Amino acid sequence: MSVLDTFRLDGKVAVVTGGGSGIGAAVATALTEAGAEVVIASRSQGVITDVTDIDSVRAMVAEIGPIDVLVNNAGVCFHRPALEVPDEEWRAVWDVNVDGVWNCSRVVGEQMIARGGGAIVNIGSISAQIVNRPQWQPAYNASKAAVHQLTKSLAAEWAPHGVRVNALAPGYVKTEMAPVDDPRFKPLWIDDPPMGRYALPEEMGPSVVFLASDASSFMTGSVLVVDGGYTLW
Ligand code: NAD
Repeated sequence: MSVLDTFRLDGKVAVVTGGGSGIGAAVATALTEAGAEVVIASRSQGVITDVTDIDSVRAMVAEIGPIDVLVNNAGVCFHRPALEVPDEEWRAVWDVNVDGVWNCSRVVGEQMIARGGGAIVNIGSISAQIVNRPQWQPAYNASKAAVHQLTKSLAAEWAPHGVRVNALAPGYVKTEMAPVDDPRFKPLWIDDPPMGRYALPEEMGPSVVFLASDASSFMTGSVLVVDGGYTLW
């Protein structure tokens, strides 16, 4: 097998949560191009799923059947200083970003363990490692740190079952979530970091294919940072 063959996902079934837009949509395209049969699990298209609702997640998995690759991509972010964050907003961020990953990983992971293998890729963030500027987003930052640590916890526990769990930590990517051209944010988000630009969603696809495929067969519990150098300073 050639090195490029190890990136192939022919015959694999992959699910991308929140795959109707942004990074998730680009990841779904990349996985398809790598040969996978891709199912989008979102609130508006594909198999309709709300990742915060365990019954919805169970129904999604029952409808799809055996899953080889799970990409936990669904996420939300709000900008607000800590003392102004309503309890409901804190809860909403944790519901999607942390409970969503927990719900999908446990339901799909149980099935993967029973079948003897699989790959889970969690979309974390540089916000798990640094505090973004100039906006405050305490719930999001804490939630993504939880995603990175949950990635490591599940990776350790499920390695003997052949289930690999890794995370991707993107820097700023031009999507609905990240208004990268906004003059309030651009100087610190985009101009200041080493590469001086934002990423397009398509630039996240290859890294997810890598983490989902045999190309990363000896990797588990890792966080792959793809941030144009943002976290270097
Ligand atoms: P986006 O808003 O385009 O995508 C988020 C998706 O999640 C949407 O399709 C939304 O409908 C879906 N979603 C939200 N709540 C859901 C729920 N309860 N059930 C199912 N789906 C739900 O933004 P994006 O930038 O593409 O974000 C994708 C992931 O990348 C998120 O986890 C985000 O935190 C992460 N991320 C984004 C950036 C960035 O700069 N854009 C940087 C680092 C990490």
